[in-house]
Amino acid sequence: MNLEQNTSLLVIYTGGTIGMTQDPISGALTPFNFNNIYEQLPVLRDFGYQIDFHSFDPLVDSSNMKPEFWIKLAQMIEKHYEDYDGFVVLHGSDTMAYTASALSFMLENLNKPVVFTGSQLPMGVIRTDGRENFLAAIEIAAAKEDELAIVPEVSIYFENHLMRGNRTTKFNAEHFNAFVSGNYPLLAEVGVHIKYNKNNIIKPNFKKLKIHSSLDYNVSILKLFPGISESVVKSTLEIPGLKALILETFGSGNAPTDPWFINALKGGIQKGLIILNVTQCKSGSVELGRYETSLELQRIGVVGGYDITTESALAKLMYLIGENYPHDKIIRLLQQSIRGEMTVENK
Ligand code: ASP
Repeated sequence: MNLEQNTSLLVIYTGGTIGMTQDPISGALTPFNFNNIYEQLPVLRDFGYQIDFHSFDPLVDSSNMKPEFWIKLAQMIEKHYEDYDGFVVLHGSDTMAYTASALSFMLENLNKPVVFTGSQLPMGVIRTDGRENFLAAIEIAAAKEDELAIVPEVSIYFENHLMRGNRTTKFNAEHFNAFVSGNYPLLAEVGVHIKYNKNNIIKPNFKKLKIHSSLDYNVSILKLFPGISESVVKSTLEIPGLKALILETFGSGNAPTDPWFINALKGGIQKGLIILNVTQCKSGSVELGRYETSLELQRIGVVGGYDITTESALAKLMYLIGENYPHDKIIRLLQQSIRGEMTVENK
């Protein structure tokens, strides 16, 4: 591996815990000043890269993240795409998997690394995990082999693991190891060395970056639970303007077989609503028709989401509907992996 001396990176700080420091007097968390990052983290100079910083104004706790913000971020990467070899996005961990998923769909033909990272403890706290996450994300975003980026895709780096962004979920609010990629192997593992699992990483296609920023927000999620009532299901299906519903089902895509439930979904589908079946499990895949409890869903036209995460399903639907594609094209693309988000043989 060749760490180029003339490598340039853009670090975009969006908000979240990683960019916080603890006021020594009040103990309150306040935003860390990235303008003097070299004074706070002098080791950054040892990389020998040119690293520029951009902080969003205002900074957002990722619980306040909105699709408008994903668009801003995608546009910023597009604007600076030719100026840098890679991008590191510092982001709150709470909704990082949603933003990384969205960016993966919005940045078509991405041939440079966009590495998201954050932390559970603020950068300015002694025992922080932010320092290691940040430094490793920088190294990964800069890593090249034969002049080509090693990880030219949207990824999340957290606690020694590099994961495909649109395969991740935040599953732990306490441990430094906060993310899981339940259906796709790691892109890299960081220990004494950074071990890239190159067979798992998307290959560059050398095409021109194309960004998609017309997201359609008329998408919702309904998580099934034992005892879910007819009024909950019906009122969800009647949300004004709703174009797609992610149905979070049990196990391998199973749902109640009560006639009122199936008929309600069928009515929605007949009116043009897209219903995408995604499992509540953190690992494994929807297999429509495997059990009697998913056979009816298949018959009425519910679309199987294979092993896509809910985060990725939401972003993919907003993107596909935003593109104004015909209904049948959206249904077809939902069953294909377009950014490595699902494990399925593309026909
Ligand atoms: N609430 C914070 C956020 O997601 C937590 C974090 O940064 O990890 O913005």
